[in-house]
Amino acid sequence: MRTNPGVCQRKARYASEAEALEVAARAPFPLRPYKCGLCRRYHLTSRTKGMKLPKFELERRSSNSSPSLSRGGGSPEG
Ligand SMILES: [Zn+2]
Repeated sequence: MRTNPGVCQRKARYASEAEALEVAARAPFPLRPYKCGLCRRYHLTSRTKGMKLPKFELERRSSNSSPSLSRGGGSPEG
């Protein structure tokens, strides 16, 4: 992935993917760690569209969906 130098400077850096994942797991929105080609550390991105979600995010989504709450046909997830 090509990384914008400005983005690299601005973003928080994590020494390992595990560290980045830990922070992502606590965030109220989906975040995905990616390795930066500039600083060789990890950043977090909120762009998860079309990307493989981290395991904790998949678990969070599956546990959040309670079928008893939404009665009368589900709405498609966007
Ligand atoms: Zn970077």
